Amino acid sequence: MIDWNKIDTVLLDMDGTLLDKHHDDHLWEFLVPEAYARMHGIAIEQATKELKIKYSSAKGTMLWSDMNHWSKETGTDIRKLRENAKHLIQVHPHTIRFLEFLRTRKKKVFLVTAAPMDDVEFKLTNAELKEYFDAIYSQIEINLPKESPKFWRTLQKLIDYDPDTTLLAEDNENILEAAKLSGIKHLVFKKASNSQKPPKELINQKNTAMTEIHHFDEIIPR
Ligand SMILES: [Mg+2]
Repeated sequence: MIDWNKIDTVLLDMDGTLLDKHHDDHLWEFLVPEAYARMHGIAIEQATKELKIKYSSAKGTMLWSDMNHWSKETGTDIRKLRENAKHLIQVHPHTIRFLEFLRTRKKKVFLVTAAPMDDVEFKLTNAELKEYFDAIYSQIEINLPKESPKFWRTLQKLIDYDPDTTLLAEDNENILEAAKLSGIKHLVFKKASNSQKPPKELINQKNTAMTEIHHFDEIIPR
């Protein structure tokens, strides 16, 4: 269990951590390949294969969440396709109760996301989560990927948090590792990222000191 008396700043990822990643996965793994196949006159299997290669070459870089890049790269209108998956923007179970708990305990709460600000705005408005954050930071504005320890050191200068009393919750193990290297002490790995897929497992054995949860009710004191 987390000792909440020792924590004063909470950094939260958005997609897969607070929100069900089903929305994003449906967009990138189904709607985009479908539109890409139509655009290029190829089979959906071929489109999926080609896109997988494009996606994996951008993993962990600034291109990953750059919608303009992907619209250009795929010849599809990603923002328009995103509209078609709007109904899948869902808050994970116990998220609101967790955010309410943080507010009651007067923690400083920041949303720290790879997503561009217009995507954050689109999702938080649909999910009605906006009111819970002291501020929102996107890696696009900081111009470094969250997978880089440098991102976290830059964020620390902006927010002025004490890494010893800061907690980060994330569904991406590589990002947690980068935050750990930058000195953030309390790390929570959110295993249940997409409600339609099995929970993730930590791959690096050295990361077992991270707190693993399926949902936030597991770290709200009774
Ligand atoms: Mg995430």
